[in-house]
Amino acid sequence: MTTAQRVEIQHDGRSYIDLATAGGRLGMKAYWLSGNKTFRLRSQWTNIDIGKGKRVLYLNSIPIYLGFPTIESSSRLYMAKADYQHVLQPILTPQAFPEKPALRRIIIDAGHGGRDGGAKNDAYRLHEKDLTLDVSRRLKFMLERKGYEVVMTRDSDVFIPLERRPQIANRAKGDLFISIHFNAAARTTAEGYETFALTPQYQASSKYSEPGRGDSRRYDGNDQDPWNTLLGYHVQRSLVQTMGGTDRGLKRARFLVLKHLDCPGVLLELGFVSNPETAHKVRSATFRQSLAQSLYDGIIQYHKRLQRIP
Ligand SMILES: [Zn+2]
Repeated sequence: MTTAQRVEIQHDGRSYIDLATAGGRLGMKAYWLSGNKTFRLRSQWTNIDIGKGKRVLYLNSIPIYLGFPTIESSSRLYMAKADYQHVLQPILTPQAFPEKPALRRIIIDAGHGGRDGGAKNDAYRLHEKDLTLDVSRRLKFMLERKGYEVVMTRDSDVFIPLERRPQIANRAKGDLFISIHFNAAARTTAEGYETFALTPQYQASSKYSEPGRGDSRRYDGNDQDPWNTLLGYHVQRSLVQTMGGTDRGLKRARFLVLKHLDCPGVLLELGFVSNPETAHKVRSATFRQSLAQSLYDGIIQYHKRLQRIP
């Protein structure tokens, strides 16, 4: 680039915005950390670290996956405008978006069930479908005690097809959808928590490096993009603050249960049952209660944030 002060540039057919200027508009200080590899935006309550050429940023230390890597030009760091709109604005200035959602009826989706057992750990006799239902029931109890209406996509060990789950949420006119899962990996050291929100249109999901042909499709769930991000941020933050362990961040995926939702929704992976230490912990009811409590706290924080929007 020839002009150092350009707020918006084009790269690879996309618009990028200058983070120092964008941060300034949000009342944040902006500077490179020593070594000039990481750019920081900072205000009294918020610290955002963004690596050069990276597709993840750290908002108050929570990893949040972006659609596109950042780029440097003339010593300035640029973020895809789409990421500014889908990540930073929803969390920092949600008042920028119209139609703030109500929050009265919450749909809890206990992953798997019946003939679909989900992830398992035979040594510890753990089945994902049992863990998801247990945490879901605990969460339901807390939310109802607080006065929310709760609808479960299943409340017993039954098989519910994936496509039925968002249908249940939409028919019940849910205001929030939370899908509860546990993970498993061949590498038994894998551990930690992650939250998935629906990938915005034209972007690659977090496990892919570049958008593919199908990624230009827009789903009903994309109408909720800003609120999906805001919800995902608060739930992931609460989860890792309460539980500790590895923060795998807020990621993006086009999961079937998220694509066709009429309300904000996220899918959570509450740990790897394939990890012996995690497996040992999730066998304890006290631990599963803490998991449910952290989700409850995250939902309450999301609701409080919505209420602060004028
Ligand atoms: Zn699962």
